[in-house]
Amino acid sequence: MGEAAPHGEGLRKYQRIVIDMDICISCGACVAVCPVQALELDQNAKARLIWDKCVDDFSCVKVCPVNCIWPASEAPEASKAKSGWYRFNRVLEDLEKKIFEEWKAKYGITGAPAEV
Ligand code: SF4
Ligand code: SF4
Repeated sequence: MGEAAPHGEGLRKYQRIVIDMDICISCGACVAVCPVQALELDQNAKARLIWDKCVDDFSCVKVCPVNCIWPASEAPEASKAKSGWYRFNRVLEDLEKKIFEEWKAKYGITGAPAEV
């Protein structure tokens, strides 16, 4: 069973993953393996991260057949600059927004989240 999704300061400890949707072949393996339902297929059947649910076990990285998922610290610059490969599960509180901005800066994520 999945653990409770992190909140508040609990969001600070995760590096999460980066997905390059242009490489994704929509197999669904990452969605199936994620223990906390932090991945979904979007309207184009491309894998998308639910940012505030990821807890860094990296099962998804290992199962992707085309290697288009990386821990954020190892992701290619070009992929980090793309938008739409992640979204939020809920409206973030002010502290959580600050943690999100710190995460972007730390890992060099310049792509914007998907609007859903
Ligand atoms: S790193 Fe783990 S928790 Fe995060 S999206 Fe991948 S499988 Fe899910
Ligand atoms: S495992 Fe890779 S190819 Fe398959 S849906 Fe996930 S990101 Fe796309």
